[in-house]
Amino acid sequence: MTLRIGVIGTGAIGRDHMRRINQTLSGAKVTAVSDVNIESVRTARADLAPEAEVVGSGEELAASAGVDAVVVTSWGATHEQYVLAAIAEGKPVFCEKPLSTTAAGAGRIVEAETAFGRRLVQVGFMRRYDAGYRMLKAVVENEIGRPLMVHAAHRNPSVPEQYITPMAIQDTLIHEIDVLRWLLDDDYVSAQVISPRRTRHAHARVEDPQIVLLETKSGIRIDVEIFVNCRYGYDIQCQVVGEEGLASLPDPMAVVMRKDAKLQSAIMTDWKDRFIDSYDLELQDFIKAAARGTASGPTAWDGYVAAVSSDACVEAQSRPGSIVPISLPARPALYN
Ligand code: NAP
Repeated sequence: MTLRIGVIGTGAIGRDHMRRINQTLSGAKVTAVSDVNIESVRTARADLAPEAEVVGSGEELAASAGVDAVVVTSWGATHEQYVLAAIAEGKPVFCEKPLSTTAAGAGRIVEAETAFGRRLVQVGFMRRYDAGYRMLKAVVENEIGRPLMVHAAHRNPSVPEQYITPMAIQDTLIHEIDVLRWLLDDDYVSAQVISPRRTRHAHARVEDPQIVLLETKSGIRIDVEIFVNCRYGYDIQCQVVGEEGLASLPDPMAVVMRKDAKLQSAIMTDWKDRFIDSYDLELQDFIKAAARGTASGPTAWDGYVAAVSSDACVEAQSRPGSIVPISLPARPALYN
């Protein structure tokens, strides 16, 4: 059976996922598309899914008899309404991060899915599908004893003018927030943000770099450097220090060159390339589960916890140096 997918939001990542579904992955095709931007949806359809129907709204798309499962790739603030529409139809839904721009919104999705009684939602935290992070998780769980500390870094060469300080949490750190709690199988209890000396390469509305300090329930201390004008490349680092040893995320494979009296290898510059295989794997996993009427991978609960933790980090940004507690309600049984 070919899973019929409707895509809501035909911007950059929406098109990328349409291309994946129709040209790279197996078991699904895009049969419907929707976007508030009519020009965008027409072009995306013509280029990537000429047989798909253009539907007037995301809600209509979710209800369409020609759609078995939904992919939400619209602007973040609209995710909640479209995920809720898919749940109301009992259809599996893949939602790009963030699940919702507010913790309350993500909580409403958890409530709706819990009331439905079966998992339908997968959140697009693709790093969990990255081969490097998976290898690191196996080593953390089996080789280096109890984890004690994590040193991580998220560096971009530069960011556009519209990137402002809270986005360092909501758009950048959000990936570490999710992947580190998955890696450590732990939740956060507090957040603190401190600011080193500013780089002269940052524009006025973004504090850069920043250091986020997180503490987990079991007492692991995490420091994440966010440096979004680092100039030299897109670089993701993660080192876990355990009782018996230390493990680091492997760098992406790159040829090592000896030339002009230098030993060198290239560093990526575009974030789109860094986790490119993970996007394929996460969507293929979604297609497989959705064909059985359910979802796998990162849950709506993971999306909710990320939203609560992200809010605490943004609050910590606004009160430099202060420690902001992170508290979560009990996890519903559906997500155990
Ligand atoms: P984008 O290029 O701006 O695309 C978003 C699209 O959604 C635009 O076509 C926009 O129309 C449309 N839209 C806005 N409001 C809508 C509504 N009410 N209903 C339907 N469509 C609507 O953004 P993007 O880069 O693709 O990002 C989309 C989402 O994916 C964001 O939440 C982003 O955080 C997430 N994302 C995740 C990753 C990842 O690494 N997992 C990577 C990239 C993006 P207009 O053109 O009229 O605004």
